[in-house]
Amino acid sequence: MVETFNIGLGNNDTQTRKRAEFDFSSFWAEQAKKLDWFDDWDVTLDWNPPFAKWFVGGKINASYNALDVHQKTKSKKTAIFWEGEDGTSRNIAYEEMWIMVQKFANALKSLGVKKGDRVTIYLPMVPELPISMLACARIGATHTVVFSGFSATSLADRIEDSKSKIVITADGGFRRGSVVELKSVVDEAIANNDSVQNVIILERTKTPIKKNPRDLLWSDLMNSSSDDCPAEKLDSTHPLFILYTSGTTGKPKGVLHGTGGYLTHVHSTFGWAFDIKDSDVFFCTADIGWVTGHSYVAYGPLLHGATQVIYEGAPDYPSPSRMWEILQKYKVTIFYTTPTALRMFMKFGDDIPNSFDLSSLRLLGTVGEPINPEVWKWYYKTIGKEKCPIIDTWWQTETGGMLISPLPGIETIPLKPGSGTLPIPGVDIAVVDEEGNDVKPNTKGYLVIRKPWPGMLLTLWGDDTKYQTVYWSKYKNCYYPGDYAIKDEDGYFWLLGRADDVLKVAGHRIGTAELESSIVSHHDVAESAVCGIPDAIKGEVIIAFVVLKEGISKSEDILRKEIVSEIRNGVGPIATPEQIYFVSKLPKTRSGKIMRRLLKAIASKEKIGDVSTLEDGAAVNEVQSAFDELQKSINKN
Ligand code: ATP
Ligand code: MG
Repeated sequence: MVETFNIGLGNNDTQTRKRAEFDFSSFWAEQAKKLDWFDDWDVTLDWNPPFAKWFVGGKINASYNALDVHQKTKSKKTAIFWEGEDGTSRNIAYEEMWIMVQKFANALKSLGVKKGDRVTIYLPMVPELPISMLACARIGATHTVVFSGFSATSLADRIEDSKSKIVITADGGFRRGSVVELKSVVDEAIANNDSVQNVIILERTKTPIKKNPRDLLWSDLMNSSSDDCPAEKLDSTHPLFILYTSGTTGKPKGVLHGTGGYLTHVHSTFGWAFDIKDSDVFFCTADIGWVTGHSYVAYGPLLHGATQVIYEGAPDYPSPSRMWEILQKYKVTIFYTTPTALRMFMKFGDDIPNSFDLSSLRLLGTVGEPINPEVWKWYYKTIGKEKCPIIDTWWQTETGGMLISPLPGIETIPLKPGSGTLPIPGVDIAVVDEEGNDVKPNTKGYLVIRKPWPGMLLTLWGDDTKYQTVYWSKYKNCYYPGDYAIKDEDGYFWLLGRADDVLKVAGHRIGTAELESSIVSHHDVAESAVCGIPDAIKGEVIIAFVVLKEGISKSEDILRKEIVSEIRNGVGPIATPEQIYFVSKLPKTRSGKIMRRLLKAIASKEKIGDVSTLEDGAAVNEVQSAFDELQKSINKN
């Protein structure tokens, strides 16, 4: 029996869904009108599969909608409460942000940046990061933000691929108390690059830098630029940004997003999902280097004229209580984070969050991976004190914004821990079999999207063919996200992990999320990842990697037996793993997602492949050595 939670914020707008069902394209046109357009569009949707153009003929500007529109009513309102890792803080009002963006936009213009040029942004989580993005958007340059934790090689690949004219970086960034020298990474990345004309350096850490002829200081440019830069009137389909995916499944893909459709999607979902009010203090922990940070840090909150907190550093630095200190300090009302972060907080124990005043919270959210019901309930009780709805939001870099999520801003529906609930209005999502037929309720299958939606990617940068093959070739005229799922009898969606990671054991198909959830429901387990490896008799056998909570002293043999019985009860005897390995961490991407393909490679003694997006190389070595050790002890017996 699935436990449900009847918690909502009292909103009950049944009209939104009704109108969306009646005619999805005029529904989206209605939502688009909530933004400020210079010119109306002629065609709402030009659908030439697999290419969708939204609001064709319309003229709009993202920076104008994020800043200019608020100047009459909210110029003194805080746009960003910025919290540095070193404890420094800044409070930036909408007017101040508007002025900085215009100055920086003029600086870019003075360097010859034109509409359609690409600009790579490689900055830590400082206000100048969204400011740079908005400055690009203001003049029609396409920004491509690269997460500041990436190495020179990963950065070089992305600069090369996007043919950027300008790179914006900082002398350094703070991470866990030490300085990461970003400028020297850029130097290495562009040593042999001739598309980059200038590098702009923000002085954040005051670390000495080597100055090359093409280098310019952020402060010098700002001092010499005027603060009047009217926003360009851009086509709705004008490319706003390129963003490379996390790389969980392989080499990152350069996802290209447009302007009018993307903004409509982000503006709508930010309001529906977060029920945003003028008095709210929103805090999303995602780095702007990922899509969550684009849609729900850089754009969503600003489009709504909301106040948000941006934190520069590691969530557990200098202590495991850092997040809760920030929530208490800024009286955060809406908190949006990842299952990975939650599992880490949970591992530290309840005493830490319990010693802070979190009573300002009214809504909680998660994104990025399936959330185990066990972790959902912990979030609900320990952080939300059983009064905050939790929105489990499913989406991808490619989708631009949320596609499946509870929407407390418009409706109150029962929540089921581990389910993202329903698709957002105006989006048609189904679960199908190999042939593309709808499967019966409660049957596993592949997630597909059957109609275009406004936040949909335009294409993969410079590679229409790959765009077509990756997303549109498995099913005719249906977008294939690559995820495995169930739709239950109430129409709720349960995401079961990547279709590529599905385990096939003795003719049964098991999603990684189902199995990992039942392992994590063991009281002593903090995290788990499972993968299948080829087996001559069974086709595939299951291997589980388990991270325990702090201070567990039980023997591994007892734990193994208990975990197996948890799985037999939860999923069934068929899912009993062949082996269970205890490790102290799991290999994760820089965005915090577990990289199961690595576990699989190690366990099947295959080549590991591209690990450029890996969070901590040590985790791979650790998994490898835990595996080697166990292998030895098994061979001995
Ligand atoms: P790549 O495509 O390069 O392998 P990636 O898919 O990890 O990288 P993202 O676009 O950041 O890059 O992640 C989107 C994926 O994250 C989804 O396809 C899904 O597998 C997973 N995901 C996101 N949100 C949720 C959620 N709420 N529940 C379950 N899975 C989620
Ligand atoms: Mg993906």
